[in-house]
Amino acid sequence: MLFSELPLANPLQRAIRAVGYEQPTPIQEQSIPSLLEGKDLLGIAQTGTGKTAAFALPILQLLLDSGKFRAPKTCRALILLPTRELAIQVADCFKQYAQFTAISTTCIFGGVGDASQKNSLIRGVDVLVATPGRLLDLIGQKAVSLKALEFFVLDEADRMLDMGFIHDIRKVVALLPQNRQNLFFSATMPDDITKLAATILRPNPVRVEVAPQSTPIERIRQELYRIDKRRKGALLKELLQEHPEMKKVLVFSRTKHGADKITRVLEKAGIKCAAIHGNKSQNRRQEALGNFKKESIRVLVATDIAARGIDVDDVSHVFNYDLPDVPETFVHRIGRTARAGKDGIAISFCSPDEEQDLRAIEKLTKIKVPEGDKAIYEKLPPPQKETPESEMRNARGRGFPRRDKPAQSAGHQKPEQSARPEWHAKPERGSKPVQKPAQASPEQSQGSNHHQRRRNRPGSRARRRMRENGSQNP
Ligand code: AMP
Repeated sequence: MLFSELPLANPLQRAIRAVGYEQPTPIQEQSIPSLLEGKDLLGIAQTGTGKTAAFALPILQLLLDSGKFRAPKTCRALILLPTRELAIQVADCFKQYAQFTAISTTCIFGGVGDASQKNSLIRGVDVLVATPGRLLDLIGQKAVSLKALEFFVLDEADRMLDMGFIHDIRKVVALLPQNRQNLFFSATMPDDITKLAATILRPNPVRVEVAPQSTPIERIRQELYRIDKRRKGALLKELLQEHPEMKKVLVFSRTKHGADKITRVLEKAGIKCAAIHGNKSQNRRQEALGNFKKESIRVLVATDIAARGIDVDDVSHVFNYDLPDVPETFVHRIGRTARAGKDGIAISFCSPDEEQDLRAIEKLTKIKVPEGDKAIYEKLPPPQKETPESEMRNARGRGFPRRDKPAQSAGHQKPEQSARPEWHAKPERGSKPVQKPAQASPEQSQGSNHHQRRRNRPGSRARRRMRENGSQNP
């Protein structure tokens, strides 16, 4: 099927061509016709399946058809999402698809001042993309009412519940008019989600279920470089300098501190880059992501948490600067490249203490990762002899081994977990607090006690001495 065969108006067809879609994805093919008939929909699908266009295009079409106009302090379609990141992403899609129409889209989310969000709501909007806390806040301030709502979309319902938004969702649903079209999306359908869906959808909704369109791992060209930890920075820099075709590069670091360190090395070499992680402000992360999307920076360095939920097309290369100790994370990371039928390359660095992680990855993927061009090692500074001090220091990215319990704990640290389940996942005002994970993650371990730990950390004095002597960290 082609998009041109779907009964979508010219301005939408034009926008679809402008964003470069040719064929609808399976969820689009299955959802768009039913939604255009005004039916409710239960979609079991993840990000990456094309679900945003599956609901945005028919909603835009129906908004165009209805002939109604937005009134001040009202919205006609409400899309509720759990995180600011996702809200911004979905709002951007609406804006793209509606670029040749007069339909307006506003995105509201917490963590930033509400003045400009309030002003656009007061003027009235067609499509409102919102996170629950800020929406209720602005409803409470009488900046917007939902009484004229025609379409309600609850997206990422399972994540909403995981993040404790159930009460906020119920409050929002209680404010909706009876007569409306509902769309409910969730990646999974456990009992509590099924029950929630039943309170929102009209009886007998259309049910659409699609598997995620993950990149088959066989389609990704992989390369492995065995390298000691201290020379990973030099190796990354060298590879980027040698290969100008590495245009849109996503580098994964296990820790926030590591991510910052990588950007310092690259910046020093004149390579345009930015890092996103939990210590960066929302604005800085948005800016970095925006610059990466429009290719004004070449390299984005991210922790697994920060990279969660971000959607960037055309990543040419994924670097595993550090190997994850959960093999599934590796598959998830490298699936960021080779999307939508394009080619992609994943390059992994493996230090001696990561060999075990590599074996687990190869076992899971049933692929032996081939080694990259060994000539590159010639261009690197020679390896430095490891001392017990430096070994302890190098294990740092994999936890903070105590002197009496060295490297042993290194490979066994829990995978990165979101302590505040957001920078893009911070529950907003009015929502239930999310339980703290039991164990600190590498990201967390850079948190408030960071300075205390730095002082106590073995080897920090040696590192200071190195800095004072002008020795360069890799
Ligand atoms: P989503 O699941 O909505 O987050 O979409 C995932 C990615 O697929 C986004 O980058 C979309 O721009 C892209 N996409 C959505 N629909 C299509 C399509 N029909 N053809 C090509 N790419 C698409």
